[in-house]
Amino acid sequence: MGLSDIIRNTLSTLKEQGQVLTPINYKEVFCKEAKKAGLIIEDCNELERYIARLDKTLQKELKGYHLRSVDELFSFLGGKIARLAPESSQELMHAMTILIKRMAQVAQQMHNKDLAQIASRTAEHIETVPDAAAVEKLKDAWIDFLTTYDDSFLDRLSILGKVDKEDLRGSIHTIVDSYSSEHNLHIPDNIGQLIVASLVPSIAASMNDEIAVISSQIRQDPNVLDSTGMQEDIKFAIKKRIELDKSALKDTVYQLDEIAGEVSKRLLHIIEQSESKKEELGKLKKELENLDMTDKKSLTDIHQRLLQIAQLLEDEASSLNEEVKSQQIKISSMDKKIMLLEEELTEANKESREDFLTKLFNKRALEEKLRELDASYKRYGRDFSLFFIDIDHFKKINDNYGHDAGDAVLRVFAKVLRQQSRDVDFIARFGGEEFVIVMPETTKEGAKQFANKLRLILQKNRFVYKEHRLKLTVSGGIGQRSESETIEELVKTADSYVYEAKAAGRNRILPK
Ligand code: GH3
Ligand code: MG
Ligand code: MG
Repeated sequence: MGLSDIIRNTLSTLKEQGQVLTPINYKEVFCKEAKKAGLIIEDCNELERYIARLDKTLQKELKGYHLRSVDELFSFLGGKIARLAPESSQELMHAMTILIKRMAQVAQQMHNKDLAQIASRTAEHIETVPDAAAVEKLKDAWIDFLTTYDDSFLDRLSILGKVDKEDLRGSIHTIVDSYSSEHNLHIPDNIGQLIVASLVPSIAASMNDEIAVISSQIRQDPNVLDSTGMQEDIKFAIKKRIELDKSALKDTVYQLDEIAGEVSKRLLHIIEQSESKKEELGKLKKELENLDMTDKKSLTDIHQRLLQIAQLLEDEASSLNEEVKSQQIKISSMDKKIMLLEEELTEANKESREDFLTKLFNKRALEEKLRELDASYKRYGRDFSLFFIDIDHFKKINDNYGHDAGDAVLRVFAKVLRQQSRDVDFIARFGGEEFVIVMPETTKEGAKQFANKLRLILQKNRFVYKEHRLKLTVSGGIGQRSESETIEELVKTADSYVYEAKAAGRNRILPK
């Protein structure tokens, strides 16, 4: 193929492709056609020739750019020269430095410790005109971060709700919003239900109307618990509940009295009735004795009288029978009523806060008091101490002098505790021969002083039972609220000190 064929092919290709016949377009297609035809044309290798004249490092750099024409080569070299020109390169450097600084500042805000560290190092170095080695180090640090960064920890948030990694802030807002709206409703609602339940009288007929109003208000909006109006309503309902329970208890006792009265009235009635029958019979007997047996008319009279007696006896027997039957029904229905009332009384007793033997507070009241003090400790930091007391060898008193002696000693012991402690102290019988004194606003040291004073008084005291004078000592343990995690732990601490005190020989208070 000759040169003229190549020119012809070039022109028809340009026409086919609809290209304008400019020198550049012409040259590009011409060189391709010539290459196809195996013809080497000096002018077509211009780009390679120019590149071959450049220095080796530049040639290497250019390989990565895949330049297609001499024009592109010139614009590349132009840029390079512009950057090397001292005044514009300085400007550019300055702009780049600020750009890097800004980017570093942004990166420091990205809630990632490693990223923030590299960013702050970068910002520092960029400021103090870096040397090449330092820049190299920074570059490595950024690459390390990029290659080791793993955001799969975000997936763990998905247990709380949907997580969109592209929009972390949005995801967190959604999760928190739904979480707090759920919880806002949930917690007060529970408390509301508890409050409503606590207002229901335990023995009296319930005060449905008031409770229904309060309960529906709380259910509609648990936040009403926060309002003074509602707090007043609840206070009033609690007061009323106690009044109702009290009067129901009074009524119950009154009813029991009435039933007992009714039973004795019925018995009297039965006795009276048979008394009156007895009288009638006696009269008839007398009449019979006085009759003249020889008189014929009298015989008919006797007959008459005997019939009357028989009738009377029969009447009495049957009426007595009926009476007994009807009384039995009444008595058994009363029996049932008494049983019911007794059950109610036992129930009411369960609600009681007082220990029946010593009249001190019982364990249930103690638990309530501890919860109350605990709340004020958590809210206002009001500390308190707890003194656990266990009488030494109490079993011996029962064994030697009888259970009644033991009971009497416990009663007097309670009295001594009451006399010796302050009004604000809370004294409870924990069980058996174990007592607890809770001292508000008192430190462990203060409680120890009181405990040892009490121990010495008890040691000197003699408990008189009948002709006996009994000696008694106690072992005790002290705990302070702020030194325990929970109230349960506080009681346990004091109790275990008692245990240690026993082991160490009794009649002592621990810790020393
Ligand atoms: P220690 O010094 O180890 O405390 O010996 P202790 O005998 O006091 O202790 P233990 O726990 O062995 O026995 C307690 C005794 O208290 C046994 C029980 O019969 C008696 N007790 C518990 N409650 C009452 C009560 O209400 N009345 C009477 N009379 N005795 C009681
Ligand atoms: Mg004991
Ligand atoms: Mg004991």
